[in-house]
Amino acid sequence: MKIEIIPCLQDNYSYLIIDEKKNTACVVDPSESNPIIKFLEDKKIDLKFILNTHHHYDHVGGNKELKEKYGASVIGFKGDKHRIPEIDIFVDDQENWKHNNFEAKIIHIPGHTLGHICFYFYNDKSIFTGDTLFSLGCGRIFEGTYSQMYESLKKLKELPHDTKIFCGHEYTMQNSRFCLAHDQNNKNLKNKIINIKKKLQEKLPTIPSTIKEELECNIFLRSDNVKTFSKLRDLKDNF
Ligand code: ZN
Ligand code: FE
Repeated sequence: MKIEIIPCLQDNYSYLIIDEKKNTACVVDPSESNPIIKFLEDKKIDLKFILNTHHHYDHVGGNKELKEKYGASVIGFKGDKHRIPEIDIFVDDQENWKHNNFEAKIIHIPGHTLGHICFYFYNDKSIFTGDTLFSLGCGRIFEGTYSQMYESLKKLKELPHDTKIFCGHEYTMQNSRFCLAHDQNNKNLKNKIINIKKKLQEKLPTIPSTIKEELECNIFLRSDNVKTFSKLRDLKDNF
């Protein structure tokens, strides 16, 4: 599988997971349809599935147009079937979703929203974390509780360290400032920031990160109890 990063809207990322043998693709969180259609048409790839991590408009905005154009099926969490536009296939926590060469484990990771899921393409060592785990940060807690978010991140921390993280937004630089403010002596973090700056200067995404890098550098993953985590989350909201 080949993974393509498609910048959308202001700072969103959608992702195409491409089966190069069959020239078919899944899209993760299409914020809008146009950049996705442009890429698919250029490369003559057929879109088969639309995977949504959660129901926010900047993750599902392209569902309708892409479904109409390609006849692709929309996949989302069964608990969110009333609010994911055009949903066709309902998936549940720990379910293994498979179609041809596309194969992902669904992990329910509530906190940002109650129905937030991630798609773990284990054969490709890649996970699509939406607005739950960002590089050097985590999502705001809109619907869930602090402890739900903490437990959700804990599930992600247990993945193999070389798993690549593809998240919903390019927030890495802003996030790095918060991490550094609270973790000033972290050498790994400082090295990662040098890399981030380099990528951004070249107008490249800072994504993917890896579980290893996030365990080393992301202050939200480094907090080992829900109390510290909650405090950090509050501080970040006002940073
Ligand atoms: Zn969101
Ligand atoms: Fe978002």
